[in-house]
Amino acid sequence: MRATPDFARFEDYLAAVREVSQTVLRPAEDRLTRADGVPEDLTTALKEMGLFGISIPEEYGGLACTMEEQVLLTFEFCQASCVYRSRFSTTIGLTSQAILDFATEDQKRKYLPLMATGECTGSFALTEPDAGSDAGALTTHAKRDGEGWVINGEKRYITNAPQADVFLTMARTDPNATGARGISAFLVDGNLDGVKVGEPPRMLGNEGSHVCYVWFEDCRVATDALVGGQEGAGLRAALRGINHARLHVAATCVGQAIRLIEEMTAYAAERRQFGQPIGEFGQVQAMLADSQAEMSAARALCMDCARAFDSGDAIPFIDIASAKLFASEMVSRVADRAMQVMGGLGYMEDLSPVARLSRDVRLFRIFEGASQVQQSNIARAMLRG
Ligand SMILES: Cc1cc2nc3c(=O)[nH]c(=O)nc-3n(C[C@H](O)[C@H](O)[C@H](O)COP(=O)(O)OP(=O)(O)OC[C@H]3O[C@@H](n4cnc5c(N)ncnc54)[C@H](O)[C@@H]3O)c2cc1C
Repeated sequence: MRATPDFARFEDYLAAVREVSQTVLRPAEDRLTRADGVPEDLTTALKEMGLFGISIPEEYGGLACTMEEQVLLTFEFCQASCVYRSRFSTTIGLTSQAILDFATEDQKRKYLPLMATGECTGSFALTEPDAGSDAGALTTHAKRDGEGWVINGEKRYITNAPQADVFLTMARTDPNATGARGISAFLVDGNLDGVKVGEPPRMLGNEGSHVCYVWFEDCRVATDALVGGQEGAGLRAALRGINHARLHVAATCVGQAIRLIEEMTAYAAERRQFGQPIGEFGQVQAMLADSQAEMSAARALCMDCARAFDSGDAIPFIDIASAKLFASEMVSRVADRAMQVMGGLGYMEDLSPVARLSRDVRLFRIFEGASQVQQSNIARAMLRG
C-alpha cells in the first residue's frame, strides 16, 4: 500500500479500517436496512477511508494495496453488513481491474482516478435474461455507426446500477461469431440517452444493495468507448475482473463467518439452560468448533490465493475457484449453525443480526459463478491436467 498522509504503514490503515467497521458500520446496520441503501454519510466515510481505491495503482490516485492487503482489509470490513462492501465492490473489482489490464491509457486516465476517490461508481453489465452462468450466450450487440457504436440489449441483476456513473458493458460486435468470440467490452457512461435502469427488485437478503435490469436502447457511444480499442476481447476483460471479484467474495465470506462465530460464541457463553451455559453442551461446542475450523481453512485459502496473485505468476484460476466455492459454502454452514446455537433468538429479525446475516450470505453460493459452476470449472481443469 502506498503511504497516505494518515497512514505510513499498512498495519495502521488496517487497524483504522477495523475501528470504522466495528464502531461506525456495525452500529449503523439497522439504519442501512431501513434506508434501503448505504446512507450518504456512511458512503462518505467509505470514500474517505480510501476503500473505493484499494485496488487501484498509485499513479491513478489509488492506495495500491497488494492482493494480500486487499484480502486482509476485506476480512475486517466484512464483519459489518456485506451491503457496505457491495457499494464499492463493483468499482474495486469487476470494473477497475478490467480497465487496468485492458483499457487504453486515455481510458485509464479518464476513469481510474475518479474511481479511486469514489466519485465514479463503476458497474459491471454482463448478465442477461438468457445469459447467466453461460455468459458467452449474451445477445446485447453493438453496431458500428459512423464515428461510434450503437448498443442495444437487456442486462439484468446489475449491482449498483442506480448509482453507476459508468457501466462496463459486454456486447457482441461480431454477429457471426458464437460463444465468447465476438464479444467486446464498452465503457458506457450511465447518464447517456439510451441507458435505462429498472427499479431494484426486492431480494431475499442484502437489503440496501441495488441490483437492477439495465436496458441499452439505441445507445450511442463514441469509438473511444471500446475498451482497449480492441474488438473481441470482452470476455477476457470480464474474466480478469471476475477472478479478482471471486477472491474478494471468498474473503467477504470469511469476514461474515467471523461475525457469525462471534455472535454465536457470545450467546453460547452467556445463555444458561439446565443450570449451565449452553456452550458447555458438547453438541453446541461441536457447532462452534466446526465453524471456527472451517472459517480458518477458508481464511488460509484466501491468503494463499492472494499471495499467488501478488507473485506476478499466472492468476491461480483453480485456487481462486476453490476459494470461492469453499468459502461461500462454508459461510452458509456457519450461518445455519449460528441460528441453531441461538435458538429462537437467531430466528428473530428484530432481536439479533443472525437472521439478516443468514439471508445475506446465501447469495455468495449463487453469484460470481454458482458453486456448481466452480465445481465444474475445477474438475475440468483437473481432468485437463
Ligand atoms: C444479487 C446479485 C447480484 C448480481 N450482480 C451482478 C452484476 O453486478 N453484474 C452481472 O453481470 N451479473 C450480476 N449477477 C448475476 C450473477 O452472476 C448470476 O446470477 C450468476 O452468474 C448465475 O446466473 P443465473 O442467475 O442466470 O443462473 P443460471 O445460469 O440459470 O443457473 C442456475 C443454476 O443452474 C446450475 N448451473 C448452471 N450452469 C451450470 C453448469 N455449467 N454446471 C453445473 N450447474 C450449472 C447452478 O446450480 C446454478 O445456480 C448478480 C446476481 C445476483 C443474484
